[in-house]
Amino acid sequence: MRGKAGVLNCVLGMSKPFDIELERLTGPVAYSEVQPVPDGQRGTFFLETFGCQMNDHDSEKVAGLLLSRGYQQVETPEAASMILYNTCSIREKAAQKVFSRLGEFREKQGEGKVIGVLGCVAQQEGEDIFKRAPWVSLVCGSASYSKLPEMLARLEAGNSRVTGLDTDTDETFETEVTRRDNPWRAYLTIIEGCDKACSYCVVPFTRGPERSRGSDLVLREVRQLAELGYSEVQLLGQTVNSYADPTARKMRFSELLLAVADVVGIRRVRFTTSHPSDFTHDIVEAIEREPKVCDHVHLPVQSGSTRVLRAMQRTYSREEYLEKIAMIRAAKRPIGITTDVIVGFPGETEAEFEETLSLLEEVQYDSMFSFKYSPRPNTPSLSMSDSISEEEKGQRLAVLQDKQREIQAAKHARLLGDCFEVLVSGKSRRENQWTGYTTSHRMINFTSQARELLGTYVQVRVTGATSNGLVGEHAV
Ligand code: SAM
Ligand code: SF4
Repeated sequence: MRGKAGVLNCVLGMSKPFDIELERLTGPVAYSEVQPVPDGQRGTFFLETFGCQMNDHDSEKVAGLLLSRGYQQVETPEAASMILYNTCSIREKAAQKVFSRLGEFREKQGEGKVIGVLGCVAQQEGEDIFKRAPWVSLVCGSASYSKLPEMLARLEAGNSRVTGLDTDTDETFETEVTRRDNPWRAYLTIIEGCDKACSYCVVPFTRGPERSRGSDLVLREVRQLAELGYSEVQLLGQTVNSYADPTARKMRFSELLLAVADVVGIRRVRFTTSHPSDFTHDIVEAIEREPKVCDHVHLPVQSGSTRVLRAMQRTYSREEYLEKIAMIRAAKRPIGITTDVIVGFPGETEAEFEETLSLLEEVQYDSMFSFKYSPRPNTPSLSMSDSISEEEKGQRLAVLQDKQREIQAAKHARLLGDCFEVLVSGKSRRENQWTGYTTSHRMINFTSQARELLGTYVQVRVTGATSNGLVGEHAV
């Protein structure tokens, strides 16, 4: 993976490998700390990530930590001496995937590889993982990542069962080195864990209580990122807008958005995921005031029925949610709104599901992630009766997605002829075809005769629209 000194050949997580200076990924200060152990001396690691952007970013930090200890990253489990799975347990299917991956090593136990389970499944299943897959030697939940260096030291000393499962922590995961996958957009976690208690959700259990990073640390990292050439940062948190600055500055979330936008070199600031109950007017004002703060809010509603929302313990009613939408829609510049919906929550009646459909009609979301309710261990809704059959959940999901496709097709058609600034993030194998995102996070595939556009900002005119996305041409 590492070619000439200080250069990584990055292939993981990207559609196409590219050479990039290690310093650009890790930061100039951090790079000096990559030196103590010669390259690859401690062995090689393979890291596969499941789940959300927060998991992706945790993996970037774990990879940075391993690189700084002298491990070398490889592309396949076969080539690795250490195999790590950073796992997701938000829905049952995601959790099952990990066990099927682990099962592949049953036959190969004698090969002397270190196998580790990180993240939410590790937290949820704990030491039971050793029973189900005795060839695993590391089980570490995300709330214990700050202790990973000690855990790695114990593995290196030959320990065959190392765990980090404490969630009772006020620490956030700080690393000197982060091996970022994307050379233009940097993820940055500002708040870990979750203090909400949605009745269907494993996150408070698997990721522990809310812990915010100090605004000084966040801003220092953003300045480093800007110096390295990143122009877009995405602030992350399960409830990113519940951010509570632990420093004496006590910056509000909206102030932090503006301060990040103010860093020289930063052109776009994104944030996700916002919780409706903590979504306040000052966030809209920050978007209105500062064009660098992207005009996109991801505001998961989960259901359009107040009765179901109460059962989900979502802390807002349909009407209160719609008030937040009205507040966002009244902004001085248009703001794209996206959402998450769960269908088939225990006891959800046909009429309540219809309320979700009518909410979609009313809000006109720009896009939506939708899921069938999946009963999860340690969640209050696990014991709720009146479960909806898988078949019924599937039917409701299909109806919901059809409705959203209709909405998106009509919205996209209205954009024909409009021009948008796009950060170019992908190059197709087909000649002259590129991909990028608008500030409101619409993906657009476009043509351009330019030779190199990756990482640049260009104007793109929309020439075609489907329910899935937009196509366009480089407007010069
Ligand atoms: N913190 C975010 C919020 O409050 O909306 C959500 C984070 S969660 C990782 C992402 C999405 O997964 C949720 O918005 C929800 O729609 C979905 N989800 C969570 N638990 C689920 C479950 N048990 N079954 C189905 N979908 C679930
Ligand atoms: Fe889960 Fe609710 Fe917290 Fe989101 S706000 S992570 S859905 S408990």
